[in-house]
Amino acid sequence: MHPAPPLPSNTAYVPFVSVANMMRLVHDIGLDVMLHELAHYIEEDFRRWPEFDKSARVASHSEVGVIELMPTSDGDTYGFKYVNGHPKNTQDGLQTVTAFGLLANVATGYPELLTEMTVLTAIRTAATSALVAKYLAPAGADTMALIGNGAQSEFQAIAMNVLCGITNVRLYDTDPRATTKLARNLEDQGLTINCCHSAHDALEGAQIITTCTADKQFSTILTDNMVGSGVHINAIGGDCPGKTELHRDILLRSDVFVEYPPQTRVEGELQQMPSDFPVTEIWQVMSGTRPGRVSDRQITLFDGVGFAIEDFSALRYIRDRIDGKPYVERLDMLADPDDPRDLYGMLQRAAPIASCGS
Ligand code: NAD
Repeated sequence: MHPAPPLPSNTAYVPFVSVANMMRLVHDIGLDVMLHELAHYIEEDFRRWPEFDKSARVASHSEVGVIELMPTSDGDTYGFKYVNGHPKNTQDGLQTVTAFGLLANVATGYPELLTEMTVLTAIRTAATSALVAKYLAPAGADTMALIGNGAQSEFQAIAMNVLCGITNVRLYDTDPRATTKLARNLEDQGLTINCCHSAHDALEGAQIITTCTADKQFSTILTDNMVGSGVHINAIGGDCPGKTELHRDILLRSDVFVEYPPQTRVEGELQQMPSDFPVTEIWQVMSGTRPGRVSDRQITLFDGVGFAIEDFSALRYIRDRIDGKPYVERLDMLADPDDPRDLYGMLQRAAPIASCGS
């Protein structure tokens, strides 16, 4: 069998960042630096929130999970992410969340970047959590309870360490193997690590509580009596209709901060509340038009479901950071005929060469 000859080049190449290259990029930049820089990009974009096209993500649900498309545009650049959420996947050796995303030029509609976003989503979610905590967590917070010790958890712990100064983490997962894995992975981070036997135990002395569990049902990871005054709750695991982590009474005692209310009201902890339950959009806090934390006794709750603008920021960041770096493959995914109206002619000219392949 002969190898197929190369096809004629009628392609405008699209830069592509594979998983392997994303990992090289993270190691090259350093995860700590990347979290800082990405948080800065997210903050920049949140501060210009009104400039963006916004819509709740388009979700396709099944009994076992969800597949979502998350688009947005700032008028110059368009971006979207494809992401799934399948909590049962880990039993089969697959991940709960995988993703890829694309940036395109609004003026031409041509893609400018295609990239893996599984690793990038974990980093952007952690950067968002820590950025929000910088605005809402009590001053001097040094201890975080981290409930749900799966794929997102290391990134959450490290981001809270490098952006918010958290030095103690108290870990809990219903599966002790997940906690052991997380504690092992965090060994060199300079954190004091406590592996706990219950969520209740994990909350002891924590000023920040992150819930990051995966389950396709209404769960009660935190009950009202577990949550003392003055804490900041970073609830990011309940991100789908029918999937929550907090008892609704906690929301009644909290000031709730969200990304995009039309999406959070159907996907977040808010789905348990009436449709007019008061919330603050976090971009307003970041742009100084609404208050964040106003008292020591206030419970602040970030009902974080993940919004398209965070992915847009992450894509924008990667586009800027790969510039001039060797981490990019050229993806043959755009036809580029010499005469733009002669697509058929381009196909005809390719046929004889392609057909002598094998
Ligand atoms: P994962 O499956 O890798 O880990 C989830 C962990 O939660 C598992 O270790 C599991 O044992 C644990 N768990 C399940 N029920 C629990 C309970 N009742 N108490 C304690 N632990 C429990 O998933 P992941 O990739 O880490 O994602 C976690 C969640 O975060 C998912 O629901 C995912 O959809 C969500 N997520 C949200 C965002 C966002 O932007 N808000 C981004 C990424 C992922």
